[in-house]
Amino acid sequence: MTARVDELRAGLEAVRERMDRACEAAGRARDEVNLVVVTKYFPASDVRLLADLGVTDVGENRHQEAEQKAQECADLDLRWHFIGGLQSNKAAAVAAYAHVVESVDRPKLVAPLSRGAAGRPEPVDVLLQVSLDPPGASHRAGADPGALPALSDAVAAADHLRLAGLMAVAPLGEDPAVAFARLAEVRRSVLSDHPEATVLSAGMSGDLEQAIAHGATHVRVGSAILGPRPVIL
Ligand SMILES: *Cc1c(COP(=O)(O)O)cnc(C)c1O
Repeated sequence: MTARVDELRAGLEAVRERMDRACEAAGRARDEVNLVVVTKYFPASDVRLLADLGVTDVGENRHQEAEQKAQECADLDLRWHFIGGLQSNKAAAVAAYAHVVESVDRPKLVAPLSRGAAGRPEPVDVLLQVSLDPPGASHRAGADPGALPALSDAVAAADHLRLAGLMAVAPLGEDPAVAFARLAEVRRSVLSDHPEATVLSAGMSGDLEQAIAHGATHVRVGSAILGPRPVIL
């Protein structure tokens, strides 16, 4: 049986090679693109092995699971990214441990996030999650691009938050390259009002190449490194 650390090492190497090749193909410097390893549903022991293998950033999408893992791994020098749907009554608690909250899609989240971040030594980085669904389609998470000017101003004005950039997930049933090209346009317009918002979190196990081609600075990769997610109720 293969030891877990060897599986994780092989997964990481394969993903880092894909990132190398995608940067080369896009004519981008390799150090412009960061890897966030999505550890949701996997145990804290995996997070620990990943940190030993040089991973610096991990992503989680469920508050209770994330909070507990961040506590169990408090001795490790990791940046925790919250990438899941946020309820406003949980937002303050998330901002108490997450270094980056990537899934901010409505103004109602801003005040509780800032309150939760008030006790932190540094402001919490916020990414605005953008919906790439065609207008009128049934929405998964994310703000409509038209809502971004007000939302970005609200985050930028919050005392304990830092507007860092945008996050998006390619919609199902569309070529991710087409969706990420739209995202790059949206990003240009946000950057013209907020030049500090340089982060673009896009691309997962199946589409990180297309995201890197369209300017992603962070890819969020789970299953290509950790394997298929275990099913927990
Ligand atoms: C789970 C998840 C990922 C990682 O997905 P994989 O396909 O396993 O790489 C990335 N982003 C978000 C928002 C997720 O929820």
